[in-house]
Amino acid sequence: VTLVASLRDIVGETHVLVDPDLRAPYETDWTRRFTGTARCVVRPASTDEVAAVVRVCAAAGAPIVVQGGNTGLVNGGVPASGSEVLLSLARLRDLEPVDVLEAQVTAGAGVTLEALQAHARAAGLDFGVDLAARSAATVGGLVATNAGGVRVLRYGSMRHQVTGLEAVLADGTVISRLTGLAKDNTGYDLTQLLAGSEGTLGIITRVRLRLVPPLPARAVALIGLSSTGDALSVLARARRLPGLAAAEVCYASGVSLVRTYAGLGAPFSEDFPVYLLVELAGGSDPTDELLEFLGGCEEIGDATVASDAAGRTKLWAYREAHTEAISAAGVPVKLDVSVPLAALADLVAELPTTVEKVAPGARTILFGHLNEGNLHVNILDAGASGVELTDAVLNLVAGYRGSISSEHGVGRAKARWLALSRTPAEIAAMRRIKAALDPNGLLNPGVLLIDAE
Ligand SMILES: Cc1cc2nc3c(=O)[nH]c(=O)nc-3n(C[C@H](O)[C@H](O)[C@H](O)COP(=O)(O)OP(=O)(O)OC[C@H]3O[C@@H](n4cnc5c(N)ncnc54)[C@H](O)[C@@H]3O)c2cc1C
Repeated sequence: VTLVASLRDIVGETHVLVDPDLRAPYETDWTRRFTGTARCVVRPASTDEVAAVVRVCAAAGAPIVVQGGNTGLVNGGVPASGSEVLLSLARLRDLEPVDVLEAQVTAGAGVTLEALQAHARAAGLDFGVDLAARSAATVGGLVATNAGGVRVLRYGSMRHQVTGLEAVLADGTVISRLTGLAKDNTGYDLTQLLAGSEGTLGIITRVRLRLVPPLPARAVALIGLSSTGDALSVLARARRLPGLAAAEVCYASGVSLVRTYAGLGAPFSEDFPVYLLVELAGGSDPTDELLEFLGGCEEIGDATVASDAAGRTKLWAYREAHTEAISAAGVPVKLDVSVPLAALADLVAELPTTVEKVAPGARTILFGHLNEGNLHVNILDAGASGVELTDAVLNLVAGYRGSISSEHGVGRAKARWLALSRTPAEIAAMRRIKAALDPNGLLNPGVLLIDAE
């Protein structure tokens, strides 16, 4: 019996895709930079089916590449070698009723962030992670990458929302911890080990998630500034506001791309080099608090404030449409770094020179989550210089004791630079964990840990 026939016995004929046209949407990543060929795409609908698929693949020695919504940006969820079975979790879409007493919910790995948010809000609660890929990114992918996004300053990243999970290990064993107990010190925290493991240690099938109180009243300010240093001064003061809910930074070159892409007018009568978006949220209207705050910041060149939903969405678009606008302009080299806040202005100043030296004429577009010192470095028109650019930028970041992956993960795209952010002892310990849970290296080979060169 062939592997494909065994997989069809488990999930049904129509959920094993071998036709190249049917496989194609799963084989290229969101950025169109990374593409590969899978032996087949298999789409199980339950944890039992996932476990059976893994057992069959393990018996056949077939590596597995795990995929959720395929919005990941570091080449972790598309095939590389041609021998992998692509395991899509998109059909695991069960969403249990919200547990209002615990303020938690259990969601299947394939539930999208948008569906989860709508479900939580319908029960009078909210979810603490939000990001622009919300309509496609899945709960499983968000946990596997420990996604960050625009609410980290208030609620932490994805791992902080997770109180338990269910996963299938590389031999088909199912581990399940879905009670969501607020206190539970009974040994190694396998849930947190799998969070951020990028599909290399286990396949997440269900997740128990913490929900947060809704904050219905919001006010957003888009602020024009002269420098990153000024944006940091405003941030330092904004951090004293109890209602601070987001602090996002972008720059003139990105705002100009966004305006063309999204057909937006100029936010101000004059252009500024730096734009800071600040959002306050609470139970009652924070507009006056925001206006008073802005009045006390002498760095501010100009500012515009919106409190109604439509006006807030419009201001957010200047920042949130960056990823899409950049992608519409070409296939960028995408890097996602963080440095201590004290080093951020120097990094921003040095990046264009670093890029220009390696790829003359390339366009560097920066934006990010200012509160975490997290900068997305996007380089357009880089030609064939992707590897050299990545090397130059990540080394610059490492010089500031920064992280080569702030929130997107390492994937295959950054794996060879892992040693810039983690010590040899740490990498050796990670390898021992990988070897213990996946001794034959079946899950996401080449992601995060590559064979030592
Ligand atoms: C427009 C846009 C904006 C974005 N903004 C942000 C942002 O602000 N912050 C941020 O952190 N990210 C952001 N991202 C990146 C992306 O949305 C996140 O990495 C997200 O967590 C990926 O979820 P996914 O379901 O699409 O996962 P995929 O892309 O399918 O997979 C990502 C990784 O997780 C693994 N994986 C997926 N599902 C599972 C599972 N069930 N079990 C085990 N492993 C699994 C895959 O093998 C792969 O390594 C953005 C992406 C886009 C396109």
